[in-house]
Amino acid sequence: MDSQIIISGGGPIGSYLASNLKECSVQIMEEHSEIGKPVQCTGLVHPRVVELANAEESVLNVIKGFRLFFPDGRVLEVKTDEAKAVVIDRCRFDNICCDSARKSGAVINTDSRIIDFKREHNGLAVSYMTDNKNNEINTNLLIGADGYKSHVGTCAGLGCAKEIVRGIQADLEVTMPDQDLVEVYVGKEVAPGFFAWILPCGEFTRVGVGISKGNGIPSKYLDSLIEKRGFGEVNRTQTYSGVIPIGYPKSTYADNIMIVGDAAAQTKPLSGGGLYTGMQCAKYAAETALDAVNSNNYSAAFLSAYEEKWKSEIGKELDRGMIIRKVFTGMSDKRLDEAGKLLDKPEAREIIATGDIDYPSKLARPLLKSVPSLMKLAPGALKTLLLGR
Ligand SMILES: Cc1cc2nc3c(=O)[nH]c(=O)nc-3n(C[C@H](O)[C@H](O)[C@H](O)COP(=O)(O)OP(=O)(O)OC[C@H]3O[C@@H](n4cnc5c(N)ncnc54)[C@H](O)[C@@H]3O)c2cc1C
Repeated sequence: MDSQIIISGGGPIGSYLASNLKECSVQIMEEHSEIGKPVQCTGLVHPRVVELANAEESVLNVIKGFRLFFPDGRVLEVKTDEAKAVVIDRCRFDNICCDSARKSGAVINTDSRIIDFKREHNGLAVSYMTDNKNNEINTNLLIGADGYKSHVGTCAGLGCAKEIVRGIQADLEVTMPDQDLVEVYVGKEVAPGFFAWILPCGEFTRVGVGISKGNGIPSKYLDSLIEKRGFGEVNRTQTYSGVIPIGYPKSTYADNIMIVGDAAAQTKPLSGGGLYTGMQCAKYAAETALDAVNSNNYSAAFLSAYEEKWKSEIGKELDRGMIIRKVFTGMSDKRLDEAGKLLDKPEAREIIATGDIDYPSKLARPLLKSVPSLMKLAPGALKTLLLGR
């Protein structure tokens, strides 16, 4: 074997995975020439993500609360004294993760795009393109950390995400007065099927919009939000877009194969955040990969331990997030306004203030108990959440 493990994708999850695979030979193949570019992320994460990656240097700002804007103009404000989230410089973050993979012994190959693989003996012959040339490398285990389009997952027939959300954002040369509050906007006019955000990042401000499929061009919604917020004349230093996969596929492993991170749509259905969940899953992918190397067993039956582990850690949160997302996307603006009215009460705000951005569904039960009239918004689905199924 040229390498015991090959990771397709040098994004944060591929690198974090490699940094947890010290005891074996690992090569990362990244199609781009530079790690961390292009950036396709807002960079809002819980501080635990920065701790996991030892990436304190990538932090740009600390967020302690939010203002949630409803279609009728109601603003639900929740402020806390805690660092609820931090804004990171994603390019810096990705490079820190990659350095740590390198320190753990992984070889990083940039400009190397995996195009195919075929089974040979007990392993895989993986084809990749570099310098316009077709090359081949042999491995026992190929792990797809290759993002939402996951070539590895597709070729292995693992299925795809249930849904995609398209996001676009711009960095504006404007400083927000309240640096510790993120603004969030919901409603069909602003961001159909998802939400929009205005995130203070110190000397600049990141404005973004996510929309679900079939709602036209995301940039139209971004321009309209920027205009509406009074930033129409402000200089945009960067604009970038990306895709968020939502709803994990039918399987995340096969003989000699695993997929992780966005490749396995291990994102939070409510916010689209995928760094924490992807890193959690990468930890289990690494554990299973090391067990596979030690037992020289790369069969699907053996690798199924990976899926069992990641599902037992975050599967329930992702499933509950999916139920809430369905309730949210099924609501008209009028219904959203009703929800806003019900939530804009001191007792509800107090509960929301205890929330954790990585486990948003944990708020559902206390909120439904404290404000039972929320049940009428979607009785069937919300009852399922309340009963904890
Ligand atoms: C607009 C937007 C905003 C977001 N905001 C947040 C946020 O605030 N917080 C948060 O936690 N998450 C956020 N996310 C999600 C987050 O960006 C992803 O969950 C995260 O990047 C997943 O990391 P990954 O390594 O799995 O995939 P990626 O970051 O997509 O990395 C995959 C890598 O694989 C490479 N690759 C792909 N195909 C091949 C191939 N065939 N061969 C070799 N290399 C290949 C790609 O070049 C890429 O470098 C956001 C996403 C979007 C689109």
